[in-house]
Amino acid sequence: MGEGEEAVGRGSDARLEYAMRKPWAIILVMLPLAACEPTASMDVSEKGPTMEPAAATSTSKPAEKVVLTDAQWRERLTAFEYQVLRQKGTERAFTGKYDEHFEPGTYVCAGCGAELFESDAKFNSGCGWPAFYAAKAGDKVKLTPDYSHGMVRTEVTCAKCDGHLGHVFDDAPQTPTGQRYCINSVSMKFVPRAK
Ligand code: FE
Repeated sequence: MGEGEEAVGRGSDARLEYAMRKPWAIILVMLPLAACEPTASMDVSEKGPTMEPAAATSTSKPAEKVVLTDAQWRERLTAFEYQVLRQKGTERAFTGKYDEHFEPGTYVCAGCGAELFESDAKFNSGCGWPAFYAAKAGDKVKLTPDYSHGMVRTEVTCAKCDGHLGHVFDDAPQTPTGQRYCINSVSMKFVPRAK
């Protein structure tokens, strides 16, 4: 029995030991391990972004990440959606289609389809952008300190695709939470509630 045959015959420990002595064999040892690893990035790049997981599930687990290349985002989004979602732009006040939109339903991310806000938490703040006093439960949005433009604000991004949504402020005492999620219309799509 040769050296290689003996190593394989003793199982995984022997394979690892063999690999230590034969560095090129590490590749062969690692192949079955790599096959068991999650391949989230492969899923996205090979199949394209999927909206089904977010729409089909409403668990409290953190959303699966959607990671696309810059070229893929440019292909997927309109120029304006790209400017706001991927480059942290802001639509002009009183121009967004959801500013004074109060139909019952759910607002989902325009980038990945993740459910972000319910119409039940939407209120008319008069600020010129859609305002919500809370995001949907389940860590749907991520909050990050934002010190840009000489201001101290809290940026709101989609937890699933990291798309820029807007900012949240503690200036709405008339609401149950006192908070105002000030969100760009272009960052969202509205899904009417089934009647
Ligand atoms: Fe998203």
